[in-house]
Amino acid sequence: MLQGVGRWLRAAGYDTLIASNGEHDAELLRLARKEGRLFLTRDRNLLDEHRKDADIIVLLQANDVPACIEELTARRELDWCKAPFSRCLLCNVPLVRIGPEQRASLKDRMPADIWASHKPVRYCPACRKLYWEGSHVRRMRRRLKEFNRGVWK
Ligand SMILES: [Zn+2]
Repeated sequence: MLQGVGRWLRAAGYDTLIASNGEHDAELLRLARKEGRLFLTRDRNLLDEHRKDADIIVLLQANDVPACIEELTARRELDWCKAPFSRCLLCNVPLVRIGPEQRASLKDRMPADIWASHKPVRYCPACRKLYWEGSHVRRMRRRLKEFNRGVWK
């Protein structure tokens, strides 16, 4: 569930690492501390076991992604429209806007109407995924605005 929250944080433009299974909490907390990150968890034991890191641990107790987003927003000042779609949702890497020459070579990788339009297209330098203002991105942008207005469901 926190992976879902993490993807929404990335969509909003926040630099967000998502832990994979098997990484050790102590290691992750050290990294979070070193990089000035908050550590989101749903594991109450983790908070009990790492009291010295209580200042950076945010324990979320809600039971679905929107409710966790509401809970997180109540606890930390967040702007869900900080820099929407400035980071890759998969890699967290800042997206780069493609130029006209690149656009010409990417015709087969996007819908014809997007390709022909002058709407900006961005790509992830790490995984090469393309992002454009299609219906999915528009829907997510609407949700981000709703989060800022306190509309969670
Ligand atoms: Zn990527």
